[in-house]
Amino acid sequence: MFIKMASKISSTGDNLFDVLRNDRITIDVGGYRHNTFLTTLKNVPDTRLSWIAENHPNSPDYDPVLGEYFFDRHPRIFTEVLNYYRIGKLHCPVDVCSALFQEELSYWGINDRDIEPCCWVLYKRQMNTEETLKTFHLDNARKSSGDCDSAKAEGKRTIASLFGSETIMKTDVRERWNRFRPKVWALLDDPRSSLAAKVRKFFSCFARLLKRQENIVDISCFYPQLAKS
Ligand SMILES: [Zn+2]
Repeated sequence: MFIKMASKISSTGDNLFDVLRNDRITIDVGGYRHNTFLTTLKNVPDTRLSWIAENHPNSPDYDPVLGEYFFDRHPRIFTEVLNYYRIGKLHCPVDVCSALFQEELSYWGINDRDIEPCCWVLYKRQMNTEETLKTFHLDNARKSSGDCDSAKAEGKRTIASLFGSETIMKTDVRERWNRFRPKVWALLDDPRSSLAAKVRKFFSCFARLLKRQENIVDISCFYPQLAKS
């Protein structure tokens, strides 16, 4: 970079500070400002940032009032992206999902094959997991679209066996209970709703009679209208 600047100084006659000032730009990514040089951004050709450097300041992302660029993108990943232009090596942040990293690289016009070997294994492993999950969800979607209850049940059982989660099974029990609940309420509240409700009411009255240990039959159980009068 300094060789390029030195040649620029000798050709234009400007002093070093003027050249550095004119070459410096500010890029705001997701609210975090980064300062760098236009010559730095030209280090990785055929990318979004190199195109910006070549056409500075004629870019829709340039704010002439603030004198800086703004991108509403992931700031943490941009730190690694910008570092790639500085040191020529692309590393993958360990706390960022590989799929997200790939998406951001794609936005900046960088190929993920440029990732350094030290980070490649972790990056590739996460991407493979992502692909496996996509295939898995696709298979389940096909099963569901066939309107086949057994396929749905099989899919749920597979998820449960894969992740060791009982959540899905609990959901099944809750769904069955929601369907069955009105019948239980009718059984308990309305003796005329079914034969089972009548039997339950009879034994309920019988138990009450035994509990009171009275010899007089409490007919109010059987004839509530008499009890009201
Ligand atoms: Zn690395």
